[in-house]
Amino acid sequence: MSECQHLHDCEFVLRYVARVKPHWDDFVSLYCRGVFQENCKRLEQLRELGSCPDPKLMPTGHRVPHVLDQDQT
Ligand code: SF4
Repeated sequence: MSECQHLHDCEFVLRYVARVKPHWDDFVSLYCRGVFQENCKRLEQLRELGSCPDPKLMPTGHRVPHVLDQDQT
């Protein structure tokens, strides 16, 4: 599976995966570089709306847990 073309500018990866490292590294291996890439809700929104998804939108379609978002802008 090829790497998602948005991996290096994906706000979810840059903000949240980096922040809780290594706990969410599976998102990168399974979605950004793996077999679930075509199921990524962020990628889906990018394609459908042509706009950058909210950073808090996870590849699963869930929102990041509130506890991770308390001091984010
Ligand atoms: S989370 Fe989705 S949009 Fe972001 S880099 Fe990974 S596969 Fe691409």
